[in-house]
Amino acid sequence: MTFQDLGLSQPVLQALELKGYESPTPIQSQAIPFVLEGRDLLGIAQTGTGKTAAFVLPSIDRLVAADKRPKPKCCRMLVLAPTRELAGQIAQSATDYARFAHLKVATVFGGTSLHRNRQDLARGVDILIATPGRLVDLAEQRALDLSQVEILVLDEADQMLDLGFIHALKQIVRLLPKQRQTLFFSATMPNAIRQLASQYLTDPAQVAITPAATTVDRVDQRMCFVNQQEKQALLTLVLRDGFGAGEMTGTMDRVLVFTRTKHGADRVVRKLAQSNIRSAAIHGNKSQPQRERALGDFRQGSVRVLVATDIAARGIDIPGVSHVLNFELPNVPDQYVHRIGRTARAGADGIALSFCAPDERDYLRDIQRLTRVTLEPMPLPSQFRSEVERIAALPPTSPRDEDRPERRQQRGGGRPQRTAQARPTHGAPGSGSGAGAGAGAGAGNRSRSRRRRSGTGATS
Ligand code: AMP
Repeated sequence: MTFQDLGLSQPVLQALELKGYESPTPIQSQAIPFVLEGRDLLGIAQTGTGKTAAFVLPSIDRLVAADKRPKPKCCRMLVLAPTRELAGQIAQSATDYARFAHLKVATVFGGTSLHRNRQDLARGVDILIATPGRLVDLAEQRALDLSQVEILVLDEADQMLDLGFIHALKQIVRLLPKQRQTLFFSATMPNAIRQLASQYLTDPAQVAITPAATTVDRVDQRMCFVNQQEKQALLTLVLRDGFGAGEMTGTMDRVLVFTRTKHGADRVVRKLAQSNIRSAAIHGNKSQPQRERALGDFRQGSVRVLVATDIAARGIDIPGVSHVLNFELPNVPDQYVHRIGRTARAGADGIALSFCAPDERDYLRDIQRLTRVTLEPMPLPSQFRSEVERIAALPPTSPRDEDRPERRQQRGGGRPQRTAQARPTHGAPGSGSGAGAGAGAGAGNRSRSRRRRSGTGATS
């Protein structure tokens, strides 16, 4: 199934191409045709399933097809979201998706300047994303007229009720025209939500998708508290020796490591190379050929550790990821769901291990709140202290070390030797073949696959 198959217009397809989305998510492929038909929709779906695009993309096409211009102080599509963060995220996505359709997108939520909101709305907008409280304020001040709304979206309706927005919601709906299309999304369907939906929707099509939840359910999620500067030692241990008795890690065939920054990703790759663990990075500073090579090597299995930033990993499908390691926790909790959804694909189970530094505890709390899962803390491995000391004694690395090993060897091979000297001397599993990082990489696939077959998996 492609986005073209769903009947979306060229300007929308163009925007999706720019975003790098290759195929629709389940909620998108199920919901988009109904919305394009003009049906009301009741969607049971969580954040992280791609539901924003599921309601924004077809709505863009309907707004464009209706060929109207927004009247002053009016909006044509109103999206209500429970929190500022969500409203901001939806607005960003809507702006991206509507880029080539030339629709005007605005957002209003509490904590921002009312004056600015009034100015934004003065000439009218096509798509308005709002939190209920601020919207009511603006409507009461007559800075906003809701009588022209063609499409209403209630996003995260259950959260909206939890946060006590029911009165604001009822007030807003009274100001809307009866003749409109209504799209209603909620992660859960308690009775109160079902009743609300039955009041606001007319003969709705229903879609129920919880891939994020089911993925989350299938992923064994653990975490370790560890200082930021000691994370590299933990990562090296996990990749080299597994974790604890191996009960947690299983076979680490393909490991996707997430960092928050591009430089962080490069640093992890360099430090792993010092411990003879071959890995590759993908992020926005890499050229297209570099990214393709890294992904190709990872897919084929010649590199079993891929280090990625969220943005780089978005929109690419990598089958067979056995483990996701969050070297740093994402500051947006949805990203966590997105990251760990990279494992446990196509019905497989997966393992996600997150490293949480003291200053990341707020991120951890947000993640646990969103996923409604408490990540089980793991003790640090027994060799952890000695590994921290070993890593601390390694020479510093610099971005220049990322040159390909072949080129380094052509230049005289100074650096690989240095890396080889830095190899552990205490007979860690998989470090006994005598091949240094540079030599290992340069020795080609044959020696690498021999090492993998021998069961160590450590330096491949
Ligand atoms: P949402 O559930 O709407 O918050 O979306 C979750 C994340 O998935 C966002 O980061 C979107 O940019 C991303 N996303 C949505 N649809 C797709 C798609 N078809 N392919 C890849 N990424 C997507």
